[in-house]
Amino acid sequence: MDKIVKVSRDTLARAAQIIREGGLVAFPTETVYGLGASAFLPQAVARIFEAKKRPRFDPLIVHIARRDEVEKLFSTFPPKAQLLAEQFWPGPLTLICPKKKEVPEIVTAGLSTVAVRMPSHPVALELITRAGVPIAAPSANRFGHVSPTRAEEVFSDLGEAVDLILDGGKTPVGVESTVLLVEEERVVLLRPGGIALEELEKVVGKIEIGGKEESPLSPGTLKKHYAPQVPLYLFKGKNEDLKELTENGIVVLAPFPLDVSRLKVRVLSERGDLREAAAFLFSTLRELEKTPLRAIVALPVEEKGLGRAVMDRLRRAASGWAQIKAGKLILVDKEE
Ligand code: AMP
Ligand code: MG
Repeated sequence: MDKIVKVSRDTLARAAQIIREGGLVAFPTETVYGLGASAFLPQAVARIFEAKKRPRFDPLIVHIARRDEVEKLFSTFPPKAQLLAEQFWPGPLTLICPKKKEVPEIVTAGLSTVAVRMPSHPVALELITRAGVPIAAPSANRFGHVSPTRAEEVFSDLGEAVDLILDGGKTPVGVESTVLLVEEERVVLLRPGGIALEELEKVVGKIEIGGKEESPLSPGTLKKHYAPQVPLYLFKGKNEDLKELTENGIVVLAPFPLDVSRLKVRVLSERGDLREAAAFLFSTLRELEKTPLRAIVALPVEEKGLGRAVMDRLRRAASGWAQIKAGKLILVDKEE
């Protein structure tokens, strides 16, 4: 576990040096932990894919600490993208625009665009600043698994494949950034995330919803992703039906207050707050997968605000849907 170090001036200096020399550092951002390498060292970026077992066709997000660093990355920065950056950076918003030819192909999986974001977490900003280069970083988990919101979760997924893990405590937002493709006229949502669509539309008007399926626009938005080791099922039915359920080994992941005393229930937000539900979603799934459960049953949330990101992650994490008939839980697997 000596890979995990508390954040200090010394460990930040060490981490920055590792990045500059082509190594891998896991670090906290406000969304989830990232697995970072210098975006301009293709060999280092290749190690990210190896460590995560991430397919090479899935492009990475490049993290910057100052607005003017986009000049090294974007060949054009459309007015709408500039407006969004002014309003929401630093923060959980990723903008995709045409790339400069200097951006290595491995970062963008051969696409002509690059995804960029300025995180708001002080540790992430300090690391990027000290490294003196933009940092390419996907979430610091094994490919397909739940994203990590704690340093120990990074270690349990990636272990020796990382050179250093900066421990900055639990990440506050808990789900990944919102990803937007920005063209001169068009703005397309490729992945719902830490900033609500409603907030973004206040700034740039109507945003097209893309990325619902595995899309050539965003190769990484796979249908099956974020999956915990205990299978998760989305509940179809009325909440009252849950009262009939008598089986053990099942946890109901409830985003809202739920009055079912007999079941094991994890409530993601007592107040029914979608932001809070998002913040605790991944850490709760990681905690539950360590217990000998038959299934995790998740109740859907309303698709507004951060509820959109929560439902997006639950759908991708789900093995199928759950129903209750005569006190028995019926689990229906979705077709692959
Ligand atoms: P991750 O870093 O694992 O949170 O995922 C990054 C997301 O951004 C994935 O869904 C990628 O497919 C998407 N992405 C990154 N770069 C691009 C790009 N140039 N064009 C479209 N989608 C991208
Ligand atoms: Mg990821």
